[in-house]
Amino acid sequence: MQSTSSRPFSYEPFPTAGVVAYFSMEIAINPGMPTYSGGLGVLAGDTLRSAADQGVPLVAFTLAHRKGYFQQHLDSQGVQSEEVQQWNPADFCTEEPVRITVSVEDRVVQVRCWRYDLVGRYGHVVPIYLLDTDLDGNSGWDRGLTDHLYGGDTNYRLQQEIVLGMGGVRMVNALGHRVNVYHMNEGHAALLTLALLEHQMGGGPIGAPTEADLALVRQRCVFTTHTPVPAGHDRFSIEQTIRILGGDRTARLEKLGCYRDGMLNMTLLALRFSRYANAVAMQHAKVSREMFPEFPIDSITNGVHAPTWVSDPVQKLLDTHVPAWRRDNLYLRNVIDLPENEMLATHAQAKRALLSEVATRTGRMLKDDVLTIGFARRVATYKRATLLFTDPERLVEIANKAGGLQIIYAGKAHPQDEPGKALIHKVVEDAARLSGNLLQIVYLENYDWALGAMMTAGVDVWLNTPKRPYEASGTSGMKAALNGVPSLSILDGWWIEGCIEGFTGWAIEDGANDAEEATSLYRKLEAAVVPLYLSDRTHWARLMRNTIAFNGSYFNTNRMVKQYTRNAYYPVQLLQRVKVEEEQLAV
Ligand SMILES: *Cc1c(COP(=O)(O)O)cnc(C)c1O
Repeated sequence: MQSTSSRPFSYEPFPTAGVVAYFSMEIAINPGMPTYSGGLGVLAGDTLRSAADQGVPLVAFTLAHRKGYFQQHLDSQGVQSEEVQQWNPADFCTEEPVRITVSVEDRVVQVRCWRYDLVGRYGHVVPIYLLDTDLDGNSGWDRGLTDHLYGGDTNYRLQQEIVLGMGGVRMVNALGHRVNVYHMNEGHAALLTLALLEHQMGGGPIGAPTEADLALVRQRCVFTTHTPVPAGHDRFSIEQTIRILGGDRTARLEKLGCYRDGMLNMTLLALRFSRYANAVAMQHAKVSREMFPEFPIDSITNGVHAPTWVSDPVQKLLDTHVPAWRRDNLYLRNVIDLPENEMLATHAQAKRALLSEVATRTGRMLKDDVLTIGFARRVATYKRATLLFTDPERLVEIANKAGGLQIIYAGKAHPQDEPGKALIHKVVEDAARLSGNLLQIVYLENYDWALGAMMTAGVDVWLNTPKRPYEASGTSGMKAALNGVPSLSILDGWWIEGCIEGFTGWAIEDGANDAEEATSLYRKLEAAVVPLYLSDRTHWARLMRNTIAFNGSYFNTNRMVKQYTRNAYYPVQLLQRVKVEEEQLAV
């Protein structure tokens, strides 16, 4: 079977044959499918949506995650409990008839896949294949291998990564796609390199690869690393890899330098076998090069898929004033000319929609003329969800001077992340204690795609307080920017590139410790944000325009996918080689 992708148009010089095969453990495909947990999955989904819009010949692989990530419930004290998000792939996807197998421990596991056709704005299709081991021939354990996103222990994770990486390579061949480039979106898919190497060497796991074998694999692989947090890089012990991958494969990967401190390091494996690697923001590339000094690591700053994250009212406004924005996000620069009163009236609609959702969920009636701050993200300790509560009296005082302040929180903690869960509990407790007349703080349950879209569009200021340098990029502030919402944030991740002080938002200054950074946060709120909001709404509207014109026009996946195409997938030299191959094939 040839690629199912039609190619009605294209901006870029793609080869006429072959596809990019994109691998990601999570992909936010559709709001009804619980196949993502947070930033990585949203980024993957936005990448594919923009690839489809731009006619990039690309197919994607992930796991079915039949039991999803989890649905979050919070009791009145902010204690989190989790519920399985069972879904049925047949409701959204078509089953492909092909079957492949992978070996896991001493077992042969059958794998099938479900196809979801992601259709771009102009009709180009990016097929997403969801690998699934829930088949009659498999044992009960193996049937569950593709059920839980980030569930279970590291044994379960390594088995899942065999299905994704090694299973994915076999599946893409079985489906009949000709692949020019394999893109590993994070290290979870790094075992695809092992499958390619074995294929190159004629099959089984025995034998020693030549330099030429290795070079041929490297020629086809590119890799994106997504986090500077050490725990975010998958590692497996030698004992585990001998048991699960097998002794021969373990010995081979060890010889090839993929173990560090006695552990198989998936980032190292991906880097060793990639001709190109990148981090997801300028600062993140610097940090990544320090972590892996042997490798050249480029940076391609993340973005978001603009039409997915811009609220309905703002979409209408843009369609009226800069109708070309959907086709080419660079036209968003022309928002600089929008009438201030229309900008304000449009944002007010998105804000009312958010506040009415808050009322429905919590019974709390927030006010639409009060400065409203949003903070929502996966609750990891380095993100410091409680920084704003460092000095509660100061916060109350700021709210009083402002004539009111509203703060909307949301975020899930991983089920096994006890410190993260404790943080949610603390935010909810502090919120209850501090909420009074002029300060209102709410915590919304079950942060997901839909809630993320509402919050980033509806608040007045987007707050982000990570501890430097652990934020690789962050994308929620980009969604806010596209909706005309300025950020108040630590200078880390994307914000180093996006912050023009007092123009697209504000920087929280670096301090020696949390307390100093909290002080800077209060000072910025008190001296810059609140006075501007209260005294000069026209000036505020100009700030809103700036966030779209300067940051929305750049921090989008329309630009990002073009950068991947030119720098990672088809740099000029590679394109030449592919063209020569095609000519030879044609003769
Ligand atoms: C955008 C988004 C994220 C990622 O945003 P960060 O700024 O990296 O936290 C996570 N979860 C959801 C639901 C999102 O929509």
